[in-house]
Amino acid sequence: MKIIAIGRNYINHAKEMNSPIPTEPVVFMKPDTALLRSNDPFYYPEFSKEIHYEVELVVKINKVGKHIQEKFAHKYYNEIGIGIDFTARDVQRKHKQKGLPWEKAKSFDYSAPIGKFIDKSKFNDLNNIKFSLEINDKIVQAGNTKDMIFNIDNLIAYVSKYFTLKIGDLIYTGTPEGVGEIKIGDKLNAKIENETLLDFEIK
Ligand code: MG
Repeated sequence: MKIIAIGRNYINHAKEMNSPIPTEPVVFMKPDTALLRSNDPFYYPEFSKEIHYEVELVVKINKVGKHIQEKFAHKYYNEIGIGIDFTARDVQRKHKQKGLPWEKAKSFDYSAPIGKFIDKSKFNDLNNIKFSLEINDKIVQAGNTKDMIFNIDNLIAYVSKYFTLKIGDLIYTGTPEGVGEIKIGDKLNAKIENETLLDFEIK
C-alpha cells in the first residue's frame, strides 16, 4: 500500500507556514514503513530536533481506480480515520531552501501514526466533519473538513490522474492550523466528532 499526503489544504495552515495558497493540490507520499499502528508509542528520531505534529483526516481507498471522475470518487472509499503527519520541520526547512525533495522530513519510519477507522455512512456530510488533536489534554488543533481547499472527492480525482489508487491506500488530506512541536513524554489524542480514534505517547 501507499500513503498519499496532501500539503497546504487549509488556508490558515498555509498562512501559518508562510506558504502560498495552492491553486492545485500539493501532493507527496510516504512509504508503508511510515505507518505507526495500534497506538504504539512514537520514538523521537535522532536526526531531528524539531518534529511537528499535523493532525489530518484520512481516507481509506477500497477499490482500484485510475482517472477517477470527481462525481464517482465517493465509490472508491468507505472508511474515514485520523492520523498524524509527523514532519521534521528543521529538515524540511533546509530542504525547502535548497529546493530539494521532502522525503527525509516527511516520510521517515513511523511518521504516519494511524488510528481506528469509521464507516463513512456514519457521517451525514463528509464535507462537514470535525476533528481535533489534544496534547496532554489540551486542544492544539481543531479542524473541519468544510475548510479544506480541495475536498475528498476533488483529491481522489486529482491524485488518480497520476497514481493508480489501490485497495488499502491511504490519503492524508492535509492539516488545519495550529501545528507545533512534540516533546518526549507528550500524550497525543486525536478525535473525530468527539470520539477518540488515536491515542499514543512520544518516547
Ligand atoms: Mg500534512
